[in-house]
Amino acid sequence: MNYYGHPITKLIEELAQLPGVGRKTAQRLAFHILQMPKEQAQSLAEAIISAKDNIRYCSVCCTLTDTDPCPICRNEKRTKEMIMVVEDPRDMAAYEKTKQYKGLYHILHGAISPMLGIGPSELKIKELLERVQHYPVEEVILATNPNIEGEATAMYIGKLLKPLGIKVTRIANGVPVGGDLEYVDEVTLSRALEGRREL
Ligand SMILES: [Zn+2]
Repeated sequence: MNYYGHPITKLIEELAQLPGVGRKTAQRLAFHILQMPKEQAQSLAEAIISAKDNIRYCSVCCTLTDTDPCPICRNEKRTKEMIMVVEDPRDMAAYEKTKQYKGLYHILHGAISPMLGIGPSELKIKELLERVQHYPVEEVILATNPNIEGEATAMYIGKLLKPLGIKVTRIANGVPVGGDLEYVDEVTLSRALEGRREL
């Protein structure tokens, strides 16, 4: 299908590979980009390349960052004895917005999902275990999403951590079951954190 000429078809194909972008949306975006002033299109392209070139995993918490360690891990005011385990950097951002949590984070980059073929070794679990063995950690809060994958992941990590003598807690059910942490409001997240229970 090449109604528009190869460069546009190529742009549509690339955009269509993005999550949540179907063929129709990809076409709409492609035509929108073509109508942009050249500088704006250039700026968009450069932002993509710059993010790819300059963003890496924090060597401590595995979040995406342009400085290593990331600003949260570097912050002397944070409580280093507490680590909240989340699936995604966006979940970390959601908890940061509540301004209730003063500890550190650990980002797994996903959850265990046999359906999607994601096992523990695909996640940053090994890094978490190394971390808690090298730094004195009193509590690990498992704040993975309250769905099947998130619960399975929390159980798996809990079983690995408890023999190490670390207090392991799970966020409360204030978060709607099947919900996505990223979209939960700040009050609900704060309550989920306050009501966490020991595993
Ligand atoms: Zn970090």
